Amino acid sequence: MKQIYLFANWKMYLDFDESNILANALAGEAEKFPTNVKMTVFPSALSLYSAGQVLRDAGIGVGAQNVYWVDKGGYTGEVSAQMFQAAGCEYALVGHSERRHQFGESNHEVRQKLEAILAAGLTPVLCVGETAKEREEGKTEEVLEIQLRAALQNLAWPKEDERPLFIAYEPVWAIGTGNACDDTEACAVAHNFIDKLAVELLPAAAVIILYGGSVRPENIAGYLKCENVSGVLVGGASAKLETWLDIAKNAVLPLPAPPLIKGREK
Ligand code: PEP
Repeated sequence: MKQIYLFANWKMYLDFDESNILANALAGEAEKFPTNVKMTVFPSALSLYSAGQVLRDAGIGVGAQNVYWVDKGGYTGEVSAQMFQAAGCEYALVGHSERRHQFGESNHEVRQKLEAILAAGLTPVLCVGETAKEREEGKTEEVLEIQLRAALQNLAWPKEDERPLFIAYEPVWAIGTGNACDDTEACAVAHNFIDKLAVELLPAAAVIILYGGSVRPENIAGYLKCENVSGVLVGGASAKLETWLDIAKNAVLPLPAPPLIKGREK
């Protein structure tokens, strides 16, 4: 059975109390999740420790939304990858489009963060994606290649390291807009491209590809149909219990039968 990864990015949607309430509610449902579904939540840095304890006890993974690459020092407001690891995190997002575009994070900074995540023993979830303008100009692959090369080229990946590298394809224009990328486009163009390039750049790592951008209960099955898409990274819809549980439910529904081949219809 295909292993499915459901990653919930709570962004800055939930305060401390709301995060703990949702973590407890999710933990209460965790026994119902099928064994081939691995769920991970990325709470805010403030809520991560308390919500994380509840989630981990229920078998749900916990990740950081953002890290700083220096372990300790005079970096007001930052939290290092090492500190997240010590607080019980297993995963970390890096290169999320909101970090790249709203906080001006460069490809070079993404690389530094990725290296720190690996050094701290966390599993990275590298986010890549093109803007609407880049897509309209036919530059999707060019942009993805620049982002992937900057992050992965000559990256030291110890051979014995069994951590996978998650790469989330998140078209910027699809994030938080309700305008999800068509699953055929997400699968056929970007995923085939990302998969091939990532394997070429980092042959030692097991690469797992996710889709992110306005995933909803109604569209998740389309992404999971793709052979090389093993899960989703979800923002808005993951911060509401009912919607998130519906996404989890629909992630494991039997896939629709393939269309009948002409001539064999009778
Ligand atoms: C995200 O934040 O990674 C994301 C995909 O957001 P949304 O699901 O809200 O589009």
